Amino acid sequence: MRSVVSMDDQLYGGTTATATKPDSVLLAGHDVPLGRYATVRRLLPQRQRRMVGAWCFVDHFGPEDLSGRPGMQIPPHPHTGLQTVTWLVAGEMVHRDSLGSDQSIRPGQLNLMSSGHGISHSEMSPPEHPPGMHGLQLWVALPDGERHGAPRFEHHPVLPVLRDGDATCTVIAGRFGSATSPAGVHTPLVAVELVLPVPGPHRLPLEPSFEYGVLAMSGAVAVGDARVTPGSLLYLAPGRSELTLEVAGQARVVLLGGEPFEEDLVMWWNFVARSHEEIVQARQDWIAGRRFGKVTSCSAEPLPAPELPMVRLKARNRYGRTTG
Ligand code: MN
Repeated sequence: MRSVVSMDDQLYGGTTATATKPDSVLLAGHDVPLGRYATVRRLLPQRQRRMVGAWCFVDHFGPEDLSGRPGMQIPPHPHTGLQTVTWLVAGEMVHRDSLGSDQSIRPGQLNLMSSGHGISHSEMSPPEHPPGMHGLQLWVALPDGERHGAPRFEHHPVLPVLRDGDATCTVIAGRFGSATSPAGVHTPLVAVELVLPVPGPHRLPLEPSFEYGVLAMSGAVAVGDARVTPGSLLYLAPGRSELTLEVAGQARVVLLGGEPFEEDLVMWWNFVARSHEEIVQARQDWIAGRRFGKVTSCSAEPLPAPELPMVRLKARNRYGRTTG
């Protein structure tokens, strides 16, 4: 079975790096202050690798001890052209949005917000919160046919969990193995959390038409020569039908994947668009109080829009190349 795949890899694989196997690159994230009280590790977008499938934004926050501190305090702000995915492994967060949603999320649950043309939301640690906080905030770019639609919010209190030997796999989005997440998505993609409690190799089935990203929320995992630790993202080009993760101790790993997203995007602040003009319009609409509604259940002052840069924003493909 494996030999056929290897043959294909040799003949057709390798988008850039080598002729013998599909391209992989270990991307180092960077720290970004978020609001007044939190710092996150941003793993996507990166300069030369903007996306993994439709996943266009990956922030890893914590683990952090919030004892005696307010925790995550993100006031109302707008989104367009994307879905937000919130995934916690410790702590609690309250999502409120302009549709009237007021939803607490705890570890193992999924909050999925689809902005469509426009929505606004806030995300706050509740006043009485657990001491720890650890999680991911992910964005999924909406394809052109979906990005002008109505906003919606989904809370999934229970997700499918697969057990493979000692490993526990929670299917956050898309399909993995025999399980499919109830999350409503619009392009072929997957997100799986793997809790690997004992040392050893773990083999995962992959979809050859997908590209993938591997990140560690805790512990370390080796994929071939690459060692993935918290704060980095291993990008894997399409062409693989399986992946072996080598774990030395305990690890909590998230696998993101999807069909390469072919549309060029302009990303600025909280907006995913196709042109400079669309970004300017979204910013004006937020300032004018149009389009994005109001988060009436949140008393915090909405975030002001930042100044636009002096230069025109350019659409970029998934490799970061401008396309006019
Ligand atoms: Mn947001």
